[in-house]
Amino acid sequence: MKKRNCPVCDSMEAKIIMSFTPELLTEVNKGYRPEVFKEAVKGKEEFITYSKCRNCSMVYCENVWDDNTLKKIYEDTIDHAIGEDAAISIQKRMSMNRIWINILRILKLLGKKKIEDFKIIDYGSGWGDFLDVVDVFGVSVVGYERDSLRIAFAKERGQRIVTDIDELKSFGPVDVIVMTSVLEHLQDVDDVLNLTKEILRPGGLFVFSVMDYRPQYLKKNINRLEKKLPALTKNLNPVEHVNIYDYKSVMATLDKYNYEFISTGYVLHLTDNLFTRNSMGFIKYLNWIEWLSTYFITWKDLSIAVYLLNK
Ligand SMILES: [Zn+2]
Repeated sequence: MKKRNCPVCDSMEAKIIMSFTPELLTEVNKGYRPEVFKEAVKGKEEFITYSKCRNCSMVYCENVWDDNTLKKIYEDTIDHAIGEDAAISIQKRMSMNRIWINILRILKLLGKKKIEDFKIIDYGSGWGDFLDVVDVFGVSVVGYERDSLRIAFAKERGQRIVTDIDELKSFGPVDVIVMTSVLEHLQDVDDVLNLTKEILRPGGLFVFSVMDYRPQYLKKNINRLEKKLPALTKNLNPVEHVNIYDYKSVMATLDKYNYEFISTGYVLHLTDNLFTRNSMGFIKYLNWIEWLSTYFITWKDLSIAVYLLNK
């Protein structure tokens, strides 16, 4: 295990607010093989915790796992068939498409008229679902990924993936860098955010998405864990997700970088959920209800996408 400081303010002062057992994690994480997971974290169960920074309130893992354990988790514990299925699900494609459409909107607002010569990097491209979505638009796009199964899956569908940072840098400067569900996993967020500044051209767009853990939602989960009940989401998982963001900590993280903030938007709107599951009767009212509801209800697993301009 490695001890780390607060990823937002670098303070060492933090207090444990959530403790998990392997059973609590595997109960809610249907994609895990329980026995393999228990074996991987054996002897280190006391470190399956989240802490809250006493200085800036960021929620994060103070202790992070070594490469060997993480390799065991990502390669052996996770049932990859589930990941592959999710990558080609209509729901996931819709959320990737929403990000892409928002990118095009912003570029248009910035005065761009054509996608000619556009260069895009998808950092942490996973199963290649975002690459699939933008591929048909005639842009030049490359993914960066380290997991061999995910790479193979994306390459099968003709995507270009690099695994080496220097090769990725040589693709730059680029117009857009996309990072969906990556920052939660990073033991060193600053390293990767510095890299985006290095590869993006001035005026380029940096877009990322993270799970949005509002304080009310965290509170509910803290209460459940205190009663030894599993969390409400599989995404509260201190082995995989070492940084737990909300709007405030996302903004505090970005403060250190010279980015101009443009907007945030939900990756997958509640309307999309309902639209694809239920009848279309309420659709015309749902946007309004959705907007209103976020003020009163802590929805499960909302993610936000953040759009930033490189200065
Ligand atoms: Zn802090």
